[in-house]
Amino acid sequence: MKDEIKKLCGETLFDEPMSRYTTLRVGGAADALVYPRQVEELSKLLLWTKSRKIPHFVLGAGSNLLVRDKGIRGIVVSLSRGFSAIRKEDEKTVYVETGVGLPRLVDWTAQEGLSGIEALAGIPGNVGGALFMNAGTRKGEIGTVVQEVTFVEKDGKLVTWPKEKIRFEYRKSHFPQGAVLLSARLSLNPASPESIREKIQADREKRIETQPLNVPNIGSVFKNPSKGHAGFYIEESGLKNVRVGGARVSPKHANFIVNEGQASARDVLALVGLIRDKVKERHGVLLEPEIRIVGEE
Ligand SMILES: Cc1cc2nc3c(=O)[nH]c(=O)nc-3n(C[C@H](O)[C@H](O)[C@H](O)COP(=O)(O)OP(=O)(O)OC[C@H]3O[C@@H](n4cnc5c(N)ncnc54)[C@H](O)[C@@H]3O)c2cc1C
Repeated sequence: MKDEIKKLCGETLFDEPMSRYTTLRVGGAADALVYPRQVEELSKLLLWTKSRKIPHFVLGAGSNLLVRDKGIRGIVVSLSRGFSAIRKEDEKTVYVETGVGLPRLVDWTAQEGLSGIEALAGIPGNVGGALFMNAGTRKGEIGTVVQEVTFVEKDGKLVTWPKEKIRFEYRKSHFPQGAVLLSARLSLNPASPESIREKIQADREKRIETQPLNVPNIGSVFKNPSKGHAGFYIEESGLKNVRVGGARVSPKHANFIVNEGQASARDVLALVGLIRDKVKERHGVLLEPEIRIVGEE
């Protein structure tokens, strides 16, 4: 199987620990991590995995991922080496590929004097992960500026969906199962670079103040429930600083779990379970994880 994958995609790593590719620094090995550089390469790869019934998983910047300790069977696709273009197409339209990091995109749009995605400043994902998760804050989500998204379906077919066809919800989007998102066109508004930079800077400073950015973490672990904030319920349940193995509820922000160095996915999952049970018991609120949990136990 290794030879076949190598033939389809020259840049492949085998038995690669996913802890190297997740911001929480947790996760067992993936059977194969592939870096396709062109659409044709990716399409052929997906056709092959489909014909061989081998599962595939798409990795972004790993900033919303908890990979279980036994890792990921099948192939993990990363677009971070081949799909990294950004360009302005007209006064308001930006074409961006999904391997681009959000921090780079946000800085680029500020420089070009294009406003609309300042709310994404400080989110450490890639454009692909942001589209998949409909990343954002209370100030705005990526879905609201999307004009169209191009992706490869699991049978290798290249498809473009206009915004009318894409359903974005709170931290969720709806694309065909197994689709690999490749690029998007975004509709932005001309504005002065200084005013955009000011907003970005304010958001980044706020994050440094309120989030444990100097320790490996995975962002907000739970979605905010319909009423109130997940962090408030967790803190009010006396869970700040609580630890399971190497995983701890951050003393800085209760909706963040940090890896103190040696955390396993099992530790993190046990802490997630503990938080859900305690918050349910104390406040009658069932918290729903925002993080994506993948791989074998
Ligand atoms: C410090 C910190 C702060 C954060 N703050 C925020 C915040 O304010 N708002 C917010 O929304 N999120 C936040 N996050 C979470 C995370 O950054 C976002 O969810 C981000 O959009 C995930 O992108 P990623 O590239 O890291 O995706 P990954 O974590 O790698 O993957 C997430 C999901 O997207 C899928 N995916 C990724 N790329 C593709 C693709 N090309 N095609 C198909 N599927 C794909 C993956 O399969 C997976 O299911 C934060 C995280 C951290 C660590």
